Amino acid sequence: MARRKKIYEGKAKTLFEGPEPGTIVQYFKDDATAFNAEKRDVIEGKGVLNNMLSEYFMNGLTQIGVPNHFIRRLNMREQLVRACEIVPLEVIVRNFAAGSMAKRLGIEEGTPLPRPIVEYCYKDDALGDPLVSEEHIAAFGWASQQDMEDILSLALRVNDFLSGVMFGVGIKLVDFKIEIGRVYEGDYQRLIVADEISSDSCRLWDMETGQKLDKDVFRRDLGSLTDAYSEVARRLGVMPKGATPMKPTLIN
Ligand code: C5P
Repeated sequence: MARRKKIYEGKAKTLFEGPEPGTIVQYFKDDATAFNAEKRDVIEGKGVLNNMLSEYFMNGLTQIGVPNHFIRRLNMREQLVRACEIVPLEVIVRNFAAGSMAKRLGIEEGTPLPRPIVEYCYKDDALGDPLVSEEHIAAFGWASQQDMEDILSLALRVNDFLSGVMFGVGIKLVDFKIEIGRVYEGDYQRLIVADEISSDSCRLWDMETGQKLDKDVFRRDLGSLTDAYSEVARRLGVMPKGATPMKPTLIN
């Protein structure tokens, strides 16, 4: 692998300059963090699983016409994606109460919500990604009114798609987070789904047993994270049973 220019190193991924202008190589690390990186560990194989899962979901979105950054997977840990300007918001969609919303509002985890609830958090690690309203978003210019309409539409389309795909393999999509990228095409700008969609960014519960198959396994010390993610990958046919995720191969 040739030496490449690192653009950004996040908690779970590193971004490198891509081979062509307007592209980026997204490398999935094995680092797991939670509670704004207060809890951290390295979990061998996690990056491989998230790379595969994100490829699977982004390809599915492309198939149903939901624009996203994914171009192609390069290897077990890397994918080529479209460069975009990330809108500084975490867009969370919830179908059942769980996590921070269950805690904030005192609602029992697992309570079905009457309609999907979309929340926005301002992406700022130092502030712990605080929940913000559309008023904040407009006032501080993080996204325009038109952007917010497009973001809501993208978020709900991703929700319907992901809920259906997971239902098909006996998994309940409790909630998830996406990030949105801005791309420019001539004089126009377009919003696309970016970052990743994986067991790191979703809450996934087995429909029969309620078993957690997502990052809560790590957050709440519920067992092996790779077993949980492998189970999701196995059910989706993303990772053949018995395949062993490779060790890190990063050269930079
Ligand atoms: O913690 P909270 O309940 O707000 O998380 C809602 C959903 O968003 C969960 O699926 C969680 O995994 C995801 N999330 C994320 N990255 C964050 C915060 C939340 O992927 N920084």
